[in-house]
Amino acid sequence: MLILKLGGSVVTHKDKPFTPHIDNITRLAAEIAEADAQPLILVHGGGSYGHPVATEYGIAEGYREPRQITGVSKTHQAMMELNGIIVRELLDAGVPAFAVSPSSFIVTEGRRIIDIDLHVVERLIESGLVPVLYGDAVLDTMQRFAILSGDQLVVKLATGLEVERVVLGSDVDGVFTADPKLVEDARLIEEFSLSNHGDEAKIGDALDTDVTGGMLGKVLEAAEAVEAGIEVVMVNATVDGRVRAALRGENVIGTRLKR
Ligand code: ADP
Repeated sequence: MLILKLGGSVVTHKDKPFTPHIDNITRLAAEIAEADAQPLILVHGGGSYGHPVATEYGIAEGYREPRQITGVSKTHQAMMELNGIIVRELLDAGVPAFAVSPSSFIVTEGRRIIDIDLHVVERLIESGLVPVLYGDAVLDTMQRFAILSGDQLVVKLATGLEVERVVLGSDVDGVFTADPKLVEDARLIEEFSLSNHGDEAKIGDALDTDVTGGMLGKVLEAAEAVEAGIEVVMVNATVDGRVRAALRGENVIGTRLKR
């Protein structure tokens, strides 16, 4: 079983509110169909759909004032709209995609998943469907609501189901020695060792409007899957063919996470 995560930086234009990156979505739907890697679970991020609304209402920080309740609803709705666009493109490409709302079967405690019921996702996979989930506004036992990142979700699914490989697609080639968008001579780390904290500390923070932590957060989340023996590879999903190759298990430019 495989999990492919497509970052918000891939499926949306991150700097333009509520703008899907249709070219990327259409191309990736075709790559997913061509790779024919089943069983498969897809997870996508929020980008310019989820993040602006979540930030406006301070959803990640939890309950402070009544107006945030509407914000929870709006954040969830924004994500369902983006999810709808992605699922439609997948169906057009011949992938039997099936939308699943994480907030309907996951509860967090202090922003970490404490309650998750995987039965339906398991059954969808057994039925030959491709569940398509996303980072979502979820209910939280401590702060009433929270933002569940696509990255945390991917790792929970990977460790809870029998997943062999996780492919994390973003808009950079993988983990670099520094943010490649800010530092010109940043080098791609092809094998990133999690036990080497020196490297980890060098990872820069992600972009300003990212409420869920960017590359550092991604690596720290993924560590749990790597510890569980799951193969985790990060690739640039904005480059033609990389996701298809990674899904097929071919050698591809990217970062492999190691213990
Ligand atoms: P996504 O939306 O694809 O999940 P994020 O925007 O949250 O991804 O994180 C990816 C971003 O992290 C990249 O676009 C890059 O600008 C930034 N980044 C910061 N530090 C690094 C690093 N050391 N290596 C790679 N990318 C980094």
